[in-house]
Amino acid sequence: MEACISDGERHYWCVSSPTMKDKPVQIRPWRLSESDFVLDASQPLDPRKTIFVGGVPRPLRACELANIMNSLYGGVCYAGIDTDPELKYPKGAGRVAFSSQQSYIAAISARFVQLRHGADIDKRVEVKPYVLDDQMCDECGGAMSGGKFAPFFCANVTCLQYYCDHCWGVIHDPASGGSSTSRWLKKGQIGPVLCRSGGDVHNWWRLLFMCARVFSYLQGFVRCRVALRV
Ligand SMILES: [Zn+2]
Ligand SMILES: [Zn+2]
Repeated sequence: MEACISDGERHYWCVSSPTMKDKPVQIRPWRLSESDFVLDASQPLDPRKTIFVGGVPRPLRACELANIMNSLYGGVCYAGIDTDPELKYPKGAGRVAFSSQQSYIAAISARFVQLRHGADIDKRVEVKPYVLDDQMCDECGGAMSGGKFAPFFCANVTCLQYYCDHCWGVIHDPASGGSSTSRWLKKGQIGPVLCRSGGDVHNWWRLLFMCARVFSYLQGFVRCRVALRV
């Protein structure tokens, strides 16, 4: 860094190539301590109240990400910038943990957030629930999947549950046992693949439930009529 040419906050290094001699390229240093930031140490880190932030500008530090999210939704306890395990340099993604369910839901409901910092950073990025690999099905606790971790996570804000194959089919698509288009596949730490039909799935489920109630009511009504006639 000392060998760089500095222009205020920016640093440059001159490189030569066969076509260009002494071309200045910008050097952006990253301190390892800038990858993690605890905003509120009194709160436990809950991975199920954590969001994944994609497309984070590389110069943005964890403390800045935490402060931006806290000013928008409140209740931030931790922010982390994902770094390459070998290079230790930011990969362009981050995680933010909230202490309250309300803040967590508000952040994922927004789906996009504008990250602004200093003169250089102003970018709209996507936020998703942070999906974990090692969760049991919230419905059966793993009983229906032989104790295997849940392969599905429903990112609908009214749901936010992990499901095994069996329970996903029963709860989200009772007619066909879960069609491939209505699944929110779990993709490790990259976050869930968001399904656009997610809302429909829940509405259909509600509609089916209502139909079943109306049907059982009518059935009772018919039975009464039959009984009266007899
Ligand atoms: Zn299950
Ligand atoms: Zn759901």
